[in-house]
Amino acid sequence: MTAISHWIGGQPVAARNGRATPVYNPATGDTTSQAPSADVAVVDAAVRAAILAWPGWRDAPLSRRTEVLFRFRQLVAERADDLARLIVREHGKVFSDARGEVRRGLDVVEFACGIPQLLKGSFTENASTDIDSWSIRQPLGVVAGITPFNFPVMVPMWMFPIAIACGNAFVLKPSEKDPSPSLLMAQLLAEAGLPDGVFNVVHGDRAAVDALLVHPDVRAVSFVGSTPVARGIYEAATRAGKRVQALGGAKNHMIVLPDADLDVAADAAVSAAYGSAGERCMAISVLVVVGDIADELVRRIRERIHGVRVGDGMEEGSEMGPLITREHRDRVASYVQRSREDGATIVADGRALQVAGLPHGFFLGPCLLDHVTPAMAAYRDEIFGPVLSVVRTGSFEAARDLVNANPYANGVALFTRDGAFARRFQNEIEVGMVGINVPIPVPMAYYSFGGWRNSLFGDANIYGEDGVRFYTRTKVVTSRWPGSRSRGETNLSFPTAR
Ligand code: NAD
Repeated sequence: MTAISHWIGGQPVAARNGRATPVYNPATGDTTSQAPSADVAVVDAAVRAAILAWPGWRDAPLSRRTEVLFRFRQLVAERADDLARLIVREHGKVFSDARGEVRRGLDVVEFACGIPQLLKGSFTENASTDIDSWSIRQPLGVVAGITPFNFPVMVPMWMFPIAIACGNAFVLKPSEKDPSPSLLMAQLLAEAGLPDGVFNVVHGDRAAVDALLVHPDVRAVSFVGSTPVARGIYEAATRAGKRVQALGGAKNHMIVLPDADLDVAADAAVSAAYGSAGERCMAISVLVVVGDIADELVRRIRERIHGVRVGDGMEEGSEMGPLITREHRDRVASYVQRSREDGATIVADGRALQVAGLPHGFFLGPCLLDHVTPAMAAYRDEIFGPVLSVVRTGSFEAARDLVNANPYANGVALFTRDGAFARRFQNEIEVGMVGINVPIPVPMAYYSFGGWRNSLFGDANIYGEDGVRFYTRTKVVTSRWPGSRSRGETNLSFPTAR
């Protein structure tokens, strides 16, 4: 079993208190390592290392910062397969999917390499007589990131490349369920020349998070995870006076209009519902079918489900891996039983699936539920597994209103060939990320990522220009030099531009 350490001040730091969480290989069910649980003292050591490193990094020329990021980008590209293998081993998703995750993380690193352009301030000459005025963006200091299990590389990379490029020092608290990729990223940052202490990793659970949330030297918190935790973190960290962006859970709908190409829609629904075993915050979990195409669309999806190859993520040809833990698999499966009791039709039931040679893996085959209604638990709750619910509606307006009434509002998609409906949809739908004939509309790194309502607490999206704004604060300087025409004189009235 591998011993997992924290990473503080540029080196691994062994766990001290003995408290730990088992890390599994979800395909075999074996325990592969133990993630240590940082206590207040370990979190404090990481924040102190960051504080010590911060002034030097804040004052480093931008070209020095980008040089480190360019090198890091190269190292991640070279070690992408190693990172992907670590993801597969602890998360379970298939290798090609893990490679895709690393690639989408790299997009943000590449965006951060252009930070000099993004940090440029503005300058106003003659704001008043002989007075100039300009704005600058300065880093906050020590910032923290708390990340979920489902993207152990990409989600941290939504945060730290931009935070670091802006001149902050970073403390990452990754998920205790798949902690290893964060350590490889820390090593690669060190290899890229990042000064010790600018990037730190503390492992653990709620205790570590709570210690970060109340630490007086942590200036800002970026969180990605489930909605109840996101809400709690937003409230606790804002109460402690910190800047917070807390991204929560999702229930993403895909609306299919009667004129859509049904094969395209069926392919998209299967890919977006069952990819990564449905453990994506942008997974499609509700299919809203408008009009009389429902029977035919459900038939085509069922046909495709039979062809989905479920297995070990490292196995050639596997398209869908196991779920993260046995408990989570059982919880997801319980929704299938409950939906039958609630009156839904089970079109595909993945509970009986056996993967040859892997009897203890946390597998669940794709599940398809038809005739689901908004009153059912399968519709209301974020299931976070390979379960797709079909809701039938009579009109575009009814489908739109259903989506707009849902407490989650992360992603949504519309499938149609009708440009007028597509245009109305993007205008009238109240969701943060919208796809038109694109089922998983994750914005590119030069936009920004964020849902609405219970899918994001705070007012800044993650990465992109929102990320730059989140990790910096604005200062505006107004200046006049001695010897200028307007010397200034005693005048107690409020200064106005003249
Ligand atoms: P989670 O909320 O259980 O955990 C996320 C992080 O918070 C982990 O680091 C965990 O250790 C910590 N944590 C857990 N419980 C805590 C508590 N009570 N107090 C303080 N910290 C706590 O989420 P998860 O199961 O790791 O990830 C899946 C969830 O994340 C899903 O709900 C998914 O939709 C969501 N997610 C959202 C996005 C997004 O961008 N909106 C992206 C990925 C995942």
